[in-house]
Amino acid sequence: METTVDRRGRHAEVSGAGFAGLTAAAALARRGWSVRVHEKGTELREQGAGIVLWHNSLKVLKAIGVYEAVLAGSMTPPYYETRFQHATVSHEDFGGLPWRTMTRPYLHRCLLDAALAAGVEIRTGSEVVAADPRGRVTLASGETLHADLVVGADGVKSKVRDSIGFEQERWKSRDGITRFLVPRHRAELGPGEWDNVIDFWNLEPRYLRVLYVPCNDRELYLALGAPRADEQGSRTPIDLDLWTSAYPELTPVLRAAATAADPRYYGYETTSVAEWRRGAVALVGDAAHAMPPALAQGAGCAMANAYTLAVAATEADDGDVEAALVRWEELERPVTDRCQRRSADFAATRSMSEGNQFTLENLETALYDPTNPNRHALSVGQS
Ligand SMILES: Cc1cc2nc3c(=O)[nH]c(=O)nc-3n(C[C@H](O)[C@H](O)[C@H](O)COP(=O)(O)OP(=O)(O)OC[C@H]3O[C@@H](n4cnc5c(N)ncnc54)[C@H](O)[C@@H]3O)c2cc1C
Repeated sequence: METTVDRRGRHAEVSGAGFAGLTAAAALARRGWSVRVHEKGTELREQGAGIVLWHNSLKVLKAIGVYEAVLAGSMTPPYYETRFQHATVSHEDFGGLPWRTMTRPYLHRCLLDAALAAGVEIRTGSEVVAADPRGRVTLASGETLHADLVVGADGVKSKVRDSIGFEQERWKSRDGITRFLVPRHRAELGPGEWDNVIDFWNLEPRYLRVLYVPCNDRELYLALGAPRADEQGSRTPIDLDLWTSAYPELTPVLRAAATAADPRYYGYETTSVAEWRRGAVALVGDAAHAMPPALAQGAGCAMANAYTLAVAATEADDGDVEAALVRWEELERPVTDRCQRRSADFAATRSMSEGNQFTLENLETALYDPTNPNRHALSVGQS
């Protein structure tokens, strides 16, 4: 439920129009803030292919008014199935926990609509090159702007974070992924449970993984995983013979992936920042806590933290945004840190391949309800 506190007259500058920046912007503007978002790209769009969202981010979408729109363009597959060396090892349905699959462009469009409907100003081709804890933002054009709150939502290479000099550790895992959005090709795939998410793992004779994610009736998200050191497996455009010999059952959709425009291989990145805030500046999303996608939770954490940031900054006692941000980090950070550690462990051990890994503990973040004011008093599974 939305808070009734209104901060008319307060101003926020947000760097980055990704999932984190747009969520923070929409949530702040709905609380009476004037909000300007800077996007360095000349277009407002989301790269990549598909995405899995869980209870935590679905609650946020509800709170910013675009839940119904997201439902209309997404789906809940019957099961998350894991196959190891071509044998099914688990069928997980998460015990009724809400989750949805969708394309990234669709989710981005819905978040953009939420921000625009709330009155957010969005500047494209506007790169933030620096920020300082007193609330000043410097743009590549040389213009400087002042705000009561600066939100660094500018991704893994955040200039807001790096210009202020937040202490951080960043590293890449040994594996990575190339993502595609292709037609479902259901008829050509033949009989099978093709509405499931299917996580195909082969560790022998080499590590090659395919994450198969239906997003709606027409579109399929395919993520092809291989070690960074495997030149052939990580090559783009993909080596069709390699992938169809490993996964002949996926030949129709792999063929479509082989002709996709501009594919890119992404090595899994982790960013661990000593603090998420300094003065009037807060970091959210991958700028603060990029994590490998093992548990499909990076964007979920980003949207949850962006939302709770907006609530905390709005409810700041006597307008003391700095103190409110300290408290926000204390309260929200532990759950994200645990998710990030688990995701890093899974990436290091590849043990998602064993199946049945979405335990209550591993779903802690997904179960979280960032919109519940009593969430910190609840234990896992109760929110
Ligand atoms: C392979 C893969 C699969 C994933 N799957 C899932 C999943 O299923 N579920 C899930 O929850 N998460 C998933 N994630 C994680 C998720 O994609 C990220 O956590 C999320 O997109 C981060 O959003 P963000 O807004 O913080 O950053 P970004 O998406 O990186 O957005 C940052 C924005 O800021 C802009 N920008 C950058 N620098 C500047 C600047 N200096 N000035 C102005 N603008 C700037 C960029 O152009 C961009 O628009 C996955 C990640 C990967 C790599």
